Amino acid sequence: NTIGPRSAELFTRAQRIFSDGTTRATIERNPIPRYLTEGKGAYVTDVDGRRFLDLNGNFTTLIHGHGFEPVVDAVCRQIRSGSCFANPTQHELELAELLVDRVPGMEWIRFVNTGTEAVLFAVKAARAYTGRPAVAKIEGAYHGAYDWVEVSQASGPATWGDPREPSAVPYYRGMPASVLDEVVTVRFNEIEGCQRLLEKNAHRLAALIIDPVPSRAGLITPDPEFVEAVNATARKLGIVIIADEVLNFRQGYQGASARHGFKPDLFTLGKIIGGGLPIGAIGGKREIMSVFGRGEKRAPLPAGGTFSANPLSMVAGLASMTALDQAAFEHLEDLGDRLRARLREEIALKDAPFSVTGVSSLLRIHPKRQVPKEFRDIALSPAESATMEALTRACAASGVILPNGAAACLSTPMTEGDIHLVGDVFAEFLSTHSHLFES
Ligand code: PMP
Repeated sequence: NTIGPRSAELFTRAQRIFSDGTTRATIERNPIPRYLTEGKGAYVTDVDGRRFLDLNGNFTTLIHGHGFEPVVDAVCRQIRSGSCFANPTQHELELAELLVDRVPGMEWIRFVNTGTEAVLFAVKAARAYTGRPAVAKIEGAYHGAYDWVEVSQASGPATWGDPREPSAVPYYRGMPASVLDEVVTVRFNEIEGCQRLLEKNAHRLAALIIDPVPSRAGLITPDPEFVEAVNATARKLGIVIIADEVLNFRQGYQGASARHGFKPDLFTLGKIIGGGLPIGAIGGKREIMSVFGRGEKRAPLPAGGTFSANPLSMVAGLASMTALDQAAFEHLEDLGDRLRARLREEIALKDAPFSVTGVSSLLRIHPKRQVPKEFRDIALSPAESATMEALTRACAASGVILPNGAAACLSTPMTEGDIHLVGDVFAEFLSTHSHLFES
């Protein structure tokens, strides 16, 4: 058993007061989650004293791993000066300047506390700018907890509907029908359908929200022709492109859109830009961002937030982002290329029915021989789900936390040795568990 007795004890207590035993639906459990006490660099330690290489990094947030000294120093210093004020600080300016300098197309920016908030403000900004209510989104893509982007997020084949016109699938019982009416679901890497649906709904569409490499929808790289079609169609129809880079901003110095050729009007950021503290940001074209106001009495779209741009998140983010120079991204790129190559090599060697997606510091293993091209390709049979659970367990048993059904990520303190460890664990799994996936 890879979950120790202390985690089990804490979970028993937790079940008395949390409906599902935790506070976050996304936490991995099997069925008990692992309680952690400490993280240092690329490794975490659980309450039972076991140590693991962390390929989760708080869902891709900790690009420098745990306890990154520049962040620790900055936060310790700042907390003595003040944790939050009802006034701006110079720290928000410094982080904003860094981001605006790096990201092409990011003219203006503002901070919030989570990726969810960034997405909801970006959608509202697109509405306020265009005067239109509806949103187009990619089938299966995750954008946080705003109703309109929760649609068609985690559905199975039974609810997908016509591939030419995917259903807007409710995320929870009681989701207002009016929300579903205001969402157009399109498929990733599917040019003809995407263009047709955007054109058909252009009169009511404020925005197309797109994660350049949608992680929950498979962590699949966009085809260049798809990127071009999205850019051109949205521009032609006056639909605001929101690049949701909350997760994928870590793909490079300028982020993911620049890397893949998307030309967004707005960006949403989060995770790495807070250095491990809560954060979100909305940025993009001045013309659209000006809906947040220019000092007039009432902005077209007022946006406050008690903790928005709090100085702790700002200094942590600045320390983290400053250390992410070109060399740091090259290191991550190199580690990622090596790990993906090693995993693919093991798959080929054993002719095993697996594939690997992802770029830079991100990767995802699929129990599919064919490399998936979109969300509909990643749906798992019960046997495939069991295989992935067994893989996650086998990794944990060998001291590696590998996310199941989400992106695995690398961090700057990782080394060649860590990459070998993951490769070896995967190779061992393929050898010892072939009964699970050989038909
Ligand atoms: N958008 C994307 C692409 C995400 O990956 C996430 C979080 N995983 C969010 C939005 C929501 O961010 P948060 O959890 O900070 O609200």
